[in-house]
Amino acid sequence: MARTRILVVEDESIVALDIQQRLQRMGYQVVGVAATGEAAIRQAEQARPDLVLMDIKLRGEMDGIEAADTIRNRFHLPVIFLTAFADDTTLQRAAVTEAFGYILKPFEERELAINIEIALYKHEMERKLRESEERYMLAAQAANDGLWDWDLQTDSIYFSSRWKAMLGYEDHEVGNSPSDWLDKVHPDDLEQLQVALAAHLRGLTEHLEKEYRMLHRDGTYRWVLTRGLLVRNPEGVAYRVVGSQTDIDARKKAEEQLLHDAVHDALTGLPNRTLFLDRLSQVLERANRSAEYTFAVLFLDLDQFKVINDSLGHNAGDELLVAIGQLFRRSLRSTDTVARLGGDEFVILLDDLHDPNEAVRVAMRIQDALKAPFQVQGQFAYTSASIGIVSSVHGYERTMDILRDADIAMYQAKAMGKACYAVFEPSMRKSAIARLELESDLRQAIERQELDLYYQPILAMASGQVAGMEALLRWHHPIHGSIAPDDFIPLAEETGLIIPIGQWVLREACRQMRCWRTTLPGSEKLYVSVNVSGKQLTHCGFARQVAEILSDTGIPAHSLRLEITESVLMDNAELAMRAVEKLRALGVELYIDDFGTGYSSLSYIQRFAINTIKIDRSFVEVINDQGDSSELIKSILRFALDLGLETIAEGVETEDQLEHLKGLLCVYGQGFVISKPLSPEAAGMFLAQAFSEKHRGSTAPIALLQSSSDGCEGGERENGTPRAACP
Ligand code: C2E
Ligand code: CA
Ligand code: CA
Repeated sequence: MARTRILVVEDESIVALDIQQRLQRMGYQVVGVAATGEAAIRQAEQARPDLVLMDIKLRGEMDGIEAADTIRNRFHLPVIFLTAFADDTTLQRAAVTEAFGYILKPFEERELAINIEIALYKHEMERKLRESEERYMLAAQAANDGLWDWDLQTDSIYFSSRWKAMLGYEDHEVGNSPSDWLDKVHPDDLEQLQVALAAHLRGLTEHLEKEYRMLHRDGTYRWVLTRGLLVRNPEGVAYRVVGSQTDIDARKKAEEQLLHDAVHDALTGLPNRTLFLDRLSQVLERANRSAEYTFAVLFLDLDQFKVINDSLGHNAGDELLVAIGQLFRRSLRSTDTVARLGGDEFVILLDDLHDPNEAVRVAMRIQDALKAPFQVQGQFAYTSASIGIVSSVHGYERTMDILRDADIAMYQAKAMGKACYAVFEPSMRKSAIARLELESDLRQAIERQELDLYYQPILAMASGQVAGMEALLRWHHPIHGSIAPDDFIPLAEETGLIIPIGQWVLREACRQMRCWRTTLPGSEKLYVSVNVSGKQLTHCGFARQVAEILSDTGIPAHSLRLEITESVLMDNAELAMRAVEKLRALGVELYIDDFGTGYSSLSYIQRFAINTIKIDRSFVEVINDQGDSSELIKSILRFALDLGLETIAEGVETEDQLEHLKGLLCVYGQGFVISKPLSPEAAGMFLAQAFSEKHRGSTAPIALLQSSSDGCEGGERENGTPRAACP
């Protein structure tokens, strides 16, 4: 057995020497003799004795009680006091330090030996108690925790029943070796745990704390938290680690769910924009490192998703999006990423392509798969997608640029019609930029007074009289010159600019109408016809706006007609119906424009109680010089007659066509043969002449009338620039 090592603290050197000799005779080892409190502490730290024999009265700043206190607290060493006299205050002070014994000088060897043995025994008991208290403390911390106690000398571990039960094991099913623990750690987590353990064992960390996955008996992995604390012996050598294991599986799963939710789309469960961009940045890095590696991004936008959403309802729309997401997922490799950006926009990242055409093939495959109907809410829904494709070969540096170019290509695909794809080329960027510029110019067009209305007469076939004027929008761009409505109205619709523009058109047309009505005798029945886009019609407060404009400009409601296309009614039936009802309540009539080009659903026309249709130019066009027409226009006109609908033929370009239509009992005609759209001034002259002829009772065809100036050339424009005086 190792000899007990004792530090002697005694300021009288002769006494110190005596004690030292006596101790050695008794079989103890004296590891040092200190003469002051400070020296005692220093030597206790260096020598780490099993016991300290401490004289209470010491020379110097610090007395024995103080020194003992420090040694006990810092190094957990037992101290026996030696004292020549024991006054009450000294003893009381000594008691506070929890001394392990007092020996009154002079003392006998036997007395000394017994005191030493008792002190050592008491100290050992105290140490054991402290250890079990440590274990108890850990257990108490979480009653549900499993406990472990690793004896580093024997390299065996005690695992508590709870520790084992947490992993689905009975007590006898787990041994007591470190491998019983470490073998169950998830391979991906093992290294980190071992690093943390080693760091703590080397005293680099104050305690061990690690979250990792453990293999449950049922074959699944469970998240646990392990905490541990090193226990050192009096020499400061670690001989034991005790710790706990807490089940944090539920918390971890909840955390994972939160993390998952943050980067996934709630509806489809697909990655969202954030996660997509993250994956994209990873492949981008890879592509920039290796020349052979290429990837592609597909930007998909569903065609006419809004129609489905509006006609079948939002739930059906949602269901369809989920189904489409699944279809995309199924059509791709597991290494590809499908994400939903929002609305009906999806993006696909095709990882590691061997052939640039692969992306096109995927796009075609997706479009093919979309041909089959989807069953949502018990109904069949058809959809298609416009797909923009961009490949990494263009050498990107930023993920946003890739997404932007894919979007540009998608836009290009959309312009080609439904279910098309387009592969991005740098030249597309130019047209996209041009479009952006156009958009910003359009925003300022009203303010800068670049918008203008032209007017095209509508003629009553039978009498040859002017019935109305259709207002047609013109944009005089400061650089690009005159831009046709077909080239900017779709942009205005997309950007929402159609709302303020449409409002300006309505107000300006009504103002002009009012001006004509007041200056032209016999013009009470003349009306102005204004084109209204779907967005405008279904925009909240449209009817209120119309009422306001009518009252501001002081024209009767029957002097205003609104032209809408069939698709407006079809695409958003519910909202359109409400708007149409309100307009009709005001007394404003509606025309169906471009009739025959859309769904041609007469049932819609009846449902909306519309009584005038404008037959599309394409039907008029086919009427040839001999006056033959297609059966189609004949049957449309016959049908309209049966239903009691009024008809206007648009785009009448020749006398023959005009005569032929008259013969087919088409009620009104409009077209270049009668008049091209005219500037307000020219339109004013046209009307003046028409009405003065009418006044004189002439029945001469209006198309043959020569324009001449009259008193009404328009008044204040909406934006305040005077054009000409109008009463
Ligand atoms: P739309 O309503 O069908 O207007 C008739 C279009 O045919 C006009 O083109 C007109 O200039 C043209 N046109 C008239 N007669 C003839 C003809 O005999 N032969 C030929 N080939 N064409 C003829 P424009 O003015 O370029 O307008 C195009 C379209 O832009 C309009 O078609 C209308 O849908 C839309 N639009 C025009 N102004 C407005 C507006 O203020 N608001 C809205 N939402 N759309 C407008
Ligand atoms: Ca029209
Ligand atoms: Ca038309």
